[in-house]
This record gives sequence, C-alpha cells and structure tokens, in this order.
Amino acid sequence: MGLFDRIKKAFSAEPEKETPVEQDQAIPETPVESDATPVESQTPAETAAAEKTETDEPASLATEDDSETVSPLDTPTAAPVNSEPEPEPEPEPEPEPEPEPEPEPEPEPVEASAVTEESDAIEEVPETEAVTGDMQAAETKKYDDGLEKSRLTFGQRLNALFANFRSVDEAFFDDVEEMLIEADVGYETAMKIADELRDEVKLRNVKKPEAVSQAIVEKLVDLYGQEGQAEDNQLHFAPQGELTVFLFVGVNGAGKTTSIGKFAHQLEKAGKKVLLAAGDTFRAGAIEQLQEWGRRDNVPVVASAAGSDPASVVYDAVKRAKEEQFDILLVDTAGRLQNNVNLMKELEKVKRIITREVPAAPQEVLLVLDATTGQNALVQAKQFKQTTDVTGIILTKLDGSAKGGIVLAVRTELHLPVKMVGLGEQMNDLQLFDPNRFVYGLFKDIIVGDGPQKTTDTDVSQAIK
Ligand code: GDP
Repeated sequence: MGLFDRIKKAFSAEPEKETPVEQDQAIPETPVESDATPVESQTPAETAAAEKTETDEPASLATEDDSETVSPLDTPTAAPVNSEPEPEPEPEPEPEPEPEPEPEPEPEPVEASAVTEESDAIEEVPETEAVTGDMQAAETKKYDDGLEKSRLTFGQRLNALFANFRSVDEAFFDDVEEMLIEADVGYETAMKIADELRDEVKLRNVKKPEAVSQAIVEKLVDLYGQEGQAEDNQLHFAPQGELTVFLFVGVNGAGKTTSIGKFAHQLEKAGKKVLLAAGDTFRAGAIEQLQEWGRRDNVPVVASAAGSDPASVVYDAVKRAKEEQFDILLVDTAGRLQNNVNLMKELEKVKRIITREVPAAPQEVLLVLDATTGQNALVQAKQFKQTTDVTGIILTKLDGSAKGGIVLAVRTELHLPVKMVGLGEQMNDLQLFDPNRFVYGLFKDIIVGDGPQKTTDTDVSQAIK
C-alpha cells in the first residue's frame, strides 16, 4: 500500500471504503513498494498510533501543562526583538579578518563522532503522560492550520488546471507540469508525476477531472513516501548525562534565532537544562535578540560584544556547558550570504571547536530555511550542503507560505531530512516534523474529502497570476 492509501486510512473519519472517486476510472490499489509495515488490519486510530510509534517521537516536545502561548511578536522591549529580517549590509565589511587567533587550549585528538541511533532525544524527554488522542488531534490541527494557505492555493491551482479542461491530451500534461512547478514541488518531481500520469491515463483510460486530480495527488504522495524510505527525520541527542550541541545555520531572516528561542522553551519545559550561544556576532541586534529569548525562556545565554570572534563565544559556551553540566547547547550562527567564503570558513571553524571539545558533537547541524522563499530556499540549501555537513532542515514560516510543496522538493531533490517545521508564531508552533501529518495537511481535501473546492474561474485565474 502506498503512502497515499496509508494516510487516507489513518486520517479518514470513516473506515476505509474501497470505492475511490469514480468506478470507471478508479485509481487501482497501486502495488507500489510498501514503504511501511502493513496496516490493513488496523483501525484508523490504531494506524495513526502505529505511525506515531514508527517515527518514535511526538510531533511536539511540549509537555501537557505547556499551554503557554507566548507570541514571539509580543515582546515588550523597545528594540524589535523579532522584527523583520535585517536588511543584509552589502557589501559586507568583514570585521574579523585576522589570522585565526584560536582562543581554546591545545587540540585534543578528535574521536569518531558517530551519533548513535539509540541516543534519540525524544525518548529522553520525560513523558508526563502517554500521548492521548486529544494531543494527537491538537498536533494534527496545528499542521492543518499551518498548511491552510498552501492547501488552498494548491486546490486553486488544481481548479484552474481543470477550468478549461477539455480532454486528457499532451497540452493537458504540459499544464500539469507547469501547475506542479508553480506549486514548488520541484522540477524533477513535476516531470516524474506528469510522466507517470501519462502512463496511467493510457492504461486505465482515466478521463474525468476528479479522477485525474486524485491521481495527481496520489502520485505526489506516493512518490514522496518512496523517496523518504531511508530518511531519518529524528533529532539525535547525546545519551543521558552527556552534552548535546545543535548548530543552527542559515541566511539572515530565515528564522534561526526565533527557532532557537522556541526550541529552547520547549526543551526547558520538558525538563532539560539548556544553554544558548550567541554565535551571530555579525548581524546588528542578533545578540540582543537571543538574549531576549533567553530571558523569556529562563535560559542563560553566552554572548560577547558585537563583532567579536564567534569561535571564541562558542568555545566559552561549550566550556560552561560542560562545567555546569548542561544537557543541551543551542548555537546561533551568522547568516550572511551563503556563498560568502568567510561565512563558510567561520562555520567550519565553529564546528571544529565544538567537535574538539565534545567529540560526538554537534549532534545536529540544522539548516534553517524560510518556506516563503520557495525555490530560493532550495538553492540556498544546495549551497550550504556543499560546504557544511548539514544533518537536517528546519522549515520555518509554513503558516505564512503558500509554498508548502517545497517539502516535497527538499526530499526528492535535496535528500536532506526535514526535522522541524515552523507552523506559526506561538512557542509551540515549532514542531517536530511528521511527514504523514504534513502530507495530510497539504492535501487533505483530496485525500479524504470531496476533491478541490469549487470556485469560479475568475477567482482561480486571479489566484494563479
Ligand atoms: P534569523 O536572522 O535567521 O535569526 O531570523 P529571525 O529568527 O530573526 O526570524 C526572522 C523573522 O521570521 C522574525 O520576524 C520571526 O518572528 C519570523 N519567523 C520565524 N519563524 C517563523 C515561523 O515559523 N512562522 C512565522 N509566521 N514567522 C516566523
């Protein structure tokens, strides 16, 4: 059973019906490779629970009492702590061109830094109670709400595709490709879906728009499922009692500092001792922004003066984290343009220092991408991936984006796992990534509903332009 059918089964309110949209052009039970344990005999609730266990982690680290909803925009300080991204000061004056005065003592031999599978963080987070149906529903709703814009836009694109639909011919397949590319699912994915659709249409003689639109989404979802079989979406933490270090990288404005603030809050609520390092010493206001998050989260921040060497700040932070037995150190970094050689050198140096002090660290190098930038985010990721050992992606601002399809492109073209998603402004809107909830949030109207909402042709064309 493909991912499409598994999700349909898991999220459908009613038990599985064997009748797809229309009998005459029913999409066959695709005998595509099974990418998970069979769930045939399970109820939807069991299936959802099984899939939850399968990913081994709840979609939120928040504990049950964590109902606080502090908006990052609620800050009472005069300085705009989370204002819009600072304009990039270009051309960039480099404040630290000196030959690397490394502040740390003699390097120690670096051990293999393999991250053990069993050191998976989420298991270590004290569970206040078993995950209840209510919590699951709340998490699904977060995805639902956060992806509303993307979902509606995708529905509108589908409507537009079929607005002038006459027959399933070559021109129609061109339109499908174009529609998918505009939906940011990625060029390769768009071509693949259109090709498979061609075959299927010929084979099954699919003609009706509802069946074709269902087939498009089914293929998108199943392709996504197949490509993700070897993907590790889990966050890896050090074993209990050892220091975990996460490094956050990404261009200015992507949401690094905000994500660190939200994540620290959730970790702290879950009983972890958290330390922050203000490694972005370049962007004006970045240090103060992180310090403000530290105050709000009740978490200490290691910082130095603006313009100082980030490696020195990170060294101090690691030292303090070890001496005072912190559980987790979250390191902010500068985000000047990713093709800036100095930035990449700086990131390398920061990473080297962390690994020298804590051989198994950093356990994660998380690239923060702004989903609203669509294909640009993909280009940034490719560049970062070339020079930095990125272990996963945090995709922010999905709530404000109509480009949720980028998640499909990240998987199929970048082969980097998305590990967290930003689904809103609230503290708990930074969620661990749950691929099934995500896909459901993006396509639920078609997976379990009545297909794309009908709107007038004028509305549709306005939406597309
Ligand atoms: P940095 O330069 O990478 O550290 O970016 P910031 O953390 O300063 O974030 C830039 C802006 O994006 C801020 O206004 C944040 O409030 C906003 N932001 C970050 N993540 C999200 C998210 O998931 N959803 C929304 N709506 N806004 C976000």
